[in-house]
Amino acid sequence: MDYQAILDEIEAEIQPYLDEGKVADYIPALASVPQRQFAMTITLFNGTQYSVGLAEKLFSIQSISKVFTFTLALKFYSKSLYKRIGHEPSGNPFNSLVQLEYEHGKPRNPFINAGAIVITDALINHYKGVEETYEEVVNFIREVACDASITSDSVVANSEMQHGHRNLALANLMKSFGNLDNEVYDVVNTYFRHCALEMNTKTLSRSMLYLANHGIDPLCAKQFISPNQAKRINAVMLTCGHYDASGDFAFHVGLPGKSGVGGGIVALIPKLMGIAVFSPGLNAQGNSLVGTKALELFTSKTGLSIF
Ligand code: GLU
Repeated sequence: MDYQAILDEIEAEIQPYLDEGKVADYIPALASVPQRQFAMTITLFNGTQYSVGLAEKLFSIQSISKVFTFTLALKFYSKSLYKRIGHEPSGNPFNSLVQLEYEHGKPRNPFINAGAIVITDALINHYKGVEETYEEVVNFIREVACDASITSDSVVANSEMQHGHRNLALANLMKSFGNLDNEVYDVVNTYFRHCALEMNTKTLSRSMLYLANHGIDPLCAKQFISPNQAKRINAVMLTCGHYDASGDFAFHVGLPGKSGVGGGIVALIPKLMGIAVFSPGLNAQGNSLVGTKALELFTSKTGLSIF
């Protein structure tokens, strides 16, 4: 298949949509990101990459980081993790408080904000400290992305902390239900630092290979998690990776994926490739509008999806 030609076609076809959607402005440091940007990369199991657009351009990975923190928490806690967190789609916005109250502080899944905050709390317990947790998560991401230069943008992290009232509210609510062991500020701050990591579509698509290959990196043969755990993460990406638009993403794209409000989306085709797209204009549910469109075009043109 001529992947480069397909990506070139996609880049031409998404142009009319680049002004649609809206850059995330509830995080002030992200509000100034220019909207008319696009990048897409696929990485095959032999390491070959095909890209279009601004594939080297770094952007804030935001909630894509939740895939990596979920991976680590599942690795250390296995099934016992589900005492604190569910694996059902929420059908609610990513930062909703209402469902959390009804469900006694147990988040529906690891990809809504409340769930990711609980995962960070579990990792702080495991690594025995906030700084250790931050470092280990970054090291893990560097390893799966094969890029030792990945770092967090402290301006974005601080900006989120200053305006993080809703995430702090989620954490406080969970603390009141006994589902948060560490200090609210420490957990939320660590969570924001992971969200503020910067990557590009090349490294992000590379970082999905272990999940496309039953937990084993096909390039360095390292086993990061068990095949069973990789299956679970893929399932949660498919059913919960796009908040209350997860059904829509499965319907239109048909791949396990995870979005971030920085405009990135990662996806993967089992046994074949990792994919990443970037375009900062978001749809009403907080997912990249053009990124979703580009992935839909990709699976339609190639006939590759999990269905
Ligand atoms: N750091 C963002 C928040 O907590 C992540 C949201 C997202 O990327 O969907 O609001």
